[in-house]
Amino acid sequence: MTRIADQDITRRFATRAVHAGHVGDPLSGAVMTPIYQTSTYIQDGLGRHKGFEYARTRNPTREALERNVAALEGGHHGFAFGSGLAALDAVMTLLSAGDHVVSGENVYGGSHRQMTHIWSRLGLSFTFVDGGDTAAVAAAITPATKIVYAETPTNPMMRLCDLAATAAIAQRAGALLVVDNTFATPFFQQPLPLGADIVLHSTTKYLNGHSDMIGGLLVTDRDDVAERLGFIQNSVGAVPGPFDCWLALRGTKTLALRMRQHDASGRRIAEWLTQQPRVRKVYYPGLPSHPQYELACRQMTGFGGMISIELGDVAFARRVVERTRIFALAESLGGVESLIGHPASMTHASVPREMRARMGLTDSLVRLSVGIEDVDDLIADLDQALADD
Ligand SMILES: *Cc1c(COP(=O)(O)O)cnc(C)c1O
Repeated sequence: MTRIADQDITRRFATRAVHAGHVGDPLSGAVMTPIYQTSTYIQDGLGRHKGFEYARTRNPTREALERNVAALEGGHHGFAFGSGLAALDAVMTLLSAGDHVVSGENVYGGSHRQMTHIWSRLGLSFTFVDGGDTAAVAAAITPATKIVYAETPTNPMMRLCDLAATAAIAQRAGALLVVDNTFATPFFQQPLPLGADIVLHSTTKYLNGHSDMIGGLLVTDRDDVAERLGFIQNSVGAVPGPFDCWLALRGTKTLALRMRQHDASGRRIAEWLTQQPRVRKVYYPGLPSHPQYELACRQMTGFGGMISIELGDVAFARRVVERTRIFALAESLGGVESLIGHPASMTHASVPREMRARMGLTDSLVRLSVGIEDVDDLIADLDQALADD
């Protein structure tokens, strides 16, 4: 369990991004946190050591990352995992057979798959609702509800969940509000001050930002929850290696800079897409036409680079994703490079067809992760991909 220093939380965001969590290296004074590539630590005598006994339990590089992201989310405790889904697994391990979870229906496909194919089998039950419909969330609560699970904006429909209102519902029910903040990142959205108990990240995405590792992270400001998560992290052991932690830590240093560019280019491209006759619909919380635009402005300080578009025709959607030259056809998101994807057959193939249809995730929906390349090049690329033959 990693508890961060108060000074790390009081500084402004971009300063925290560069410095929070770093511990000076006593050997050389290295400016950057070293990669402590070790499985164990020498002990001075029986029961006498520097606090580090075995690297599943503690690793200095991992702790630097945990403290860094915790500081960015404004929480005191961070826990790193081998993937975003391993972080979700740790959250669900807080529960016991018989417990109930209310989850947004449009969560990441792999999160939905873990809940329905693994945890349902082990005795947890789930009710999936439109997380943007606060009344539906409240109505789904039962005496057995222990977690309310929200993703906002959702992937790929870009629907929002009102975090303050949902936190109040969870609190009344005595349940934890867990928020997947992967899309917005702490630069644009801070769930903990709005009442969330745990923030979840796939660090694979924007936090690392360079598409070169897989990782997950949990942040909480509750000491009781932190103690249980620390126990689970060590007991289950789904921890990341120090090199992946180091890569993620290098990524978060530039998070503020990168997110500003993702946001500026995302807004420009979303706006441009609304003017293209072949694009039926643009899903982006930063557009005034988004049904929850007012909530987006209240809850987020920027909207980032994730955009979904409805093209109305499956063959045309296929042609567009295969025609872009800068936007690469690939799963994942949040890297410096632009990606294009087809959620129905890629990231959300594991979500049942009826459920996809219910939330508007059609076979002609295309998702963009706008990178930090020159925005005019990106627009030209989309323009040629959308053009008639
Ligand atoms: C990718 C992703 C996950 C899962 O993370 P992994 O690192 O791939 O295990 C969870 N939530 C969201 C929103 C994601 O985009």
